[in-house]
Amino acid sequence: MKIAGFLRTTLLDWDGKVACTVYLAGCNFRCPYCHNRDLVLHPEAVQGLDQEAVLGYIGEHSDFLDGAVISGGEPTLDPGLLDLIKRIRGKGLSIKLDTNGSRPEVLDDLIGAGLVDMVAMDIKAPLNADRYSSVAGVPADVEALRRSIRIIMESGVDYEFRTTVAPILVKERDIEEICREIRGAKCYCLHQFRPDVTLDDKLEVLDPYPESKVLGMAEAARPYVRRVKVRGI
Ligand code: SF4
Repeated sequence: MKIAGFLRTTLLDWDGKVACTVYLAGCNFRCPYCHNRDLVLHPEAVQGLDQEAVLGYIGEHSDFLDGAVISGGEPTLDPGLLDLIKRIRGKGLSIKLDTNGSRPEVLDDLIGAGLVDMVAMDIKAPLNADRYSSVAGVPADVEALRRSIRIIMESGVDYEFRTTVAPILVKERDIEEICREIRGAKCYCLHQFRPDVTLDDKLEVLDPYPESKVLGMAEAARPYVRRVKVRGI
């Protein structure tokens, strides 16, 4: 396991919680708007942090921290994920997992074992292989993504689905199509696109959608899901 980064305290990565965030290296997607370029493209070159030191910090601050967010990259690719989560939980923290949803079997195992308290899954585009692959930057298995959605929605754990609204990649009309796939979901979140540091540097010159357009997308989502959030505007 390579811990590529560690944020000691954040109020932003898990709504309502004081959390720390652990970033694992490597991802099976290549989303053009990804901010973790080095961690995704060159995981072998990222200098890993000492896992015991990270766990030591978490143990020492467990009275102050509510939970740990496990992010990436794509954490479900890491064979050491289960052990890491168990060790963090052993220190009394809750776990939020950020995932691209491509490994439903890992999600099923973790949720089934009661090891995660919150899951945030990206839904990057309408679940049609061509569209999805163009946003994920690799051929995407949309049936695996659908399985992940089902597992999460039926799990009983807290969750949110989220879409980064990058112009050109995600159109306004896509939001309703995405929301039809998650009809009845507890929470759907739109993330504003940020052009600073993107995996594909062509996107760095792209202007984000204006705020009014993102809020319009949120309105389009509202009839389908129980709660809509917008971040980054
Ligand atoms: S944004 Fe895409 S490429 Fe970046 S970590 Fe998430 S799934 Fe991987």
